[in-house]
Amino acid sequence: MAGLTGAIMDGSQTFERPDNQRGGSEESLGIAIVTGAASGIGEAVARKLASENWTVHICDIDANALKRFSDRHPNIHTSVASVSNPADVQSVVQGVLEKHGRIDALINNAGISGMTAPVEEFDIEDWRRTIDINVNGSFYFVREVVPAMKAAGKGAIINIASTAALFGYPQRSAYAAAKWAILGFTKTLAMELGPFGIRANAICPGSVEGPRIDGVIERDAAKRGVKPEDVRRVYEGQVSMRSFVSADDIANMCAFLASGQSRFVSGQVIAVDGHTESLSFPF
Ligand code: NAD
Repeated sequence: MAGLTGAIMDGSQTFERPDNQRGGSEESLGIAIVTGAASGIGEAVARKLASENWTVHICDIDANALKRFSDRHPNIHTSVASVSNPADVQSVVQGVLEKHGRIDALINNAGISGMTAPVEEFDIEDWRRTIDINVNGSFYFVREVVPAMKAAGKGAIINIASTAALFGYPQRSAYAAAKWAILGFTKTLAMELGPFGIRANAICPGSVEGPRIDGVIERDAAKRGVKPEDVRRVYEGQVSMRSFVSADDIANMCAFLASGQSRFVSGQVIAVDGHTESLSFPF
């Protein structure tokens, strides 16, 4: 993302809307940043928070997806930024602080699934990228928002982990390592920042209906030499409620954890998954 950094908030890379099309900060419930939110779970979270009268800023690495997002959600601010680029992250946070003077909620959602492969065949670059986006990106954002949250004496940090952070996950070693790291990071943030009135929680989504899980299933099936529908059946069978969840289910939990209704909920790892029993595979 080199070369983009200086332009993130300058209007050429930020798809700005006139102020009269946005929730103003006066009547807003708070200022929230959602990362990797041009699509999928992040989009559902941004939409839910905006519907509850939060002023929402999202970022995403995909400029075209952001343009489409802006068409769907003209009241939500957007920036092109990579969470794995510390300078991009700094620009996004500074831009929000310059505009509103505070950040009340950070939802670290951006993440990639990484490859599906036996550990000895794992591509080193893929491993690094998976850790970089899923783990380092969350750290960069937390590092930037915490001074403002400490100054305000409040804030909610929500890290999107996965049920892969609750079990071993064969053939998905980078993703599992990254998501377990997110839980350690979350617990540590809760301890370190609790005295400053800042809460930190992690959500572990189960498989979410949508194109991302379809891709994961297809790659898993190709690797195992079976049909995608067989893999899907196994995934569903791993869950007590025998079903995938929706992005809105995750967004609802996010909205709760960002709000004052959860004012003494911190350091928690909350699965929204219909109760995953195992991630092991019969074949
Ligand atoms: P998605 O692929 O639909 O959306 C992810 C978004 O992140 C995309 O818009 C993408 O452009 C963006 N992104 C990717 N790299 C980025 C980067 N470096 N900087 C900024 N943005 C970047 O994924 P999703 O299913 O919505 O997943 C969101 C989060 O939920 C991820 O952390 C994922 O690991 C987690 N999760 C998803 C599922 C699931 O089944 N979909 C299950 C458990 C956990």
